[in-house]
Amino acid sequence: MKEDYYDILGVSKGASQAEIKKAYRKKAIEFHPDKNPDDPAAEEQFKKAAEAYEVLGDEQKKARYDQFGHAAFEGGAGGFGGGGMNMEDIFSQFGDIFGGGFGGFSGFGGGGGQRRVKGSNLRIRVKLTLEEIANGVEKKISIKRKKQAAGVSYKTCSTCNGSGQVTRITNTILGRMQTATTCNTCGGAGQMIDKRPSGADANGLITEEETVTIPIPAGVVDGMQLKVSGKGNEAPGNGISGDLLVGIQELEHETLKREGDNLHYDLYVSMPEAILGGSKEIDTVTGKVRIKLEQGIQSGKILRLRGKGIPSINGYGAGDLLVHINVWTPQHLSKDQKSFFEKMQGDENFEPSPLKSDKSFFEKVKDMFS
Ligand SMILES: [Zn+2]
Repeated sequence: MKEDYYDILGVSKGASQAEIKKAYRKKAIEFHPDKNPDDPAAEEQFKKAAEAYEVLGDEQKKARYDQFGHAAFEGGAGGFGGGGMNMEDIFSQFGDIFGGGFGGFSGFGGGGGQRRVKGSNLRIRVKLTLEEIANGVEKKISIKRKKQAAGVSYKTCSTCNGSGQVTRITNTILGRMQTATTCNTCGGAGQMIDKRPSGADANGLITEEETVTIPIPAGVVDGMQLKVSGKGNEAPGNGISGDLLVGIQELEHETLKREGDNLHYDLYVSMPEAILGGSKEIDTVTGKVRIKLEQGIQSGKILRLRGKGIPSINGYGAGDLLVHINVWTPQHLSKDQKSFFEKMQGDENFEPSPLKSDKSFFEKVKDMFS
């Protein structure tokens, strides 16, 4: 059984010619031999897509296919039998699909000596709070991008007939020599602008404002760059759009400090709280939480809240939230308070007596930060 042409291109029966063309371009890029050298499976997909487009990209053939299925093109009824298209047929189809080479556009590897144009990339920077980074966020950002102006049209270059190359024959003492050079008329694109609407640039493009939704996964890092494919500047003709490159900037948090996927929080505890124990509210990236303070908690102790840090960008787990305990020594005392502490001076309960394990405290901190 031959595969359904609509399935091959991944479009519905009701798809417009523009949608079919777009779907084919996508497949052709994905399975292009230049991108998949020595990959027979990719080449097969590439050929299949070309064959499907040959039919669905033509209103009349499409109508016949819709009515009769593959039978419409079998038995020499004006199709390509069962053998599919050869590579040469496919690349000649590209004159229409991938014509490119317009001024100012980067070339793209293409078949048959042609170049495909790609619109330039756009770069923006997005500022994110630690909460947004921890939870992931969708940012709607207004950008200015070049688009094909309404009413613009492109035509096949008549000098090279869309091939992008011209063949020159020169007579030398060794005989006639044939050399292929880039077509000067279209700059190798195979296409030229036909109708240029007013306000459009030489390539038929205008700059428009567009709101783009940028999905930002949890765990991104300051300085990281995300790519939104196809949201850069459009290319003229049948070229493909550039990409939107999104630079991540992390905003400083008021109370939380990030270190990799871990977060640090400085918690100040009063002397009575440290002596008597109790509970305290702290900030986390998912809101405030209350934590318990044991009786006699020491300054410098670090409480680890597992998994309360930043989720790993790879999707595996999350960092921890490390709460650093700082016991606050009062700066001013009333007379009574002063006399109370004077009485405690020399009291063995107030004498420091760190445990052996506490003496390695600085090592522990060092471990935590490294
Ligand atoms: Zn040309």
